[in-house]
Amino acid sequence: MSCLFCKIVEGQIPSTPVYQDELSYAFADIHPQAPVHVLVVPREHIASLDGAEENHRALLGHLMHAAARIAQQKGLGKGYRVVVNTGADGGQTVDHLHLHVLGGRHMAWPPG
Ligand code: 5GP
Ligand code: ZN
Repeated sequence: MSCLFCKIVEGQIPSTPVYQDELSYAFADIHPQAPVHVLVVPREHIASLDGAEENHRALLGHLMHAAARIAQQKGLGKGYRVVVNTGADGGQTVDHLHLHVLGGRHMAWPPG
């Protein structure tokens, strides 16, 4: 198993846990881009949003809901951003589906 985030989910690579349940694991990003920067990943290896199948629909909703719970837990009542970089043009660098939860500062639009 060579996937970085699978290793983090399995505990083979240390991370700072933020939230976990039977389907997902969330941890602090190692290079935070905002005061709060959490990554939410499915325990199951899915390479990207583009690699999600029909049978992953409920899991995708689960991850979104987990992101909202984490934002609430982190006190991001003023707002936050959830990002799923997908593929090379989307800026994805780790090929295991993940949601970025970013907050604690104002987020500009459009993104870079
Ligand atoms: P992407 O660029 O694929 O959307 O996001 C990958 C994210 O994973 C980046 O924000 C990067 O900082 C984070 N990251 C990469 N390697 C590690 C690691 O070993 N531990 C943690 N906690 N985050 C990582
Ligand atoms: Zn993986």
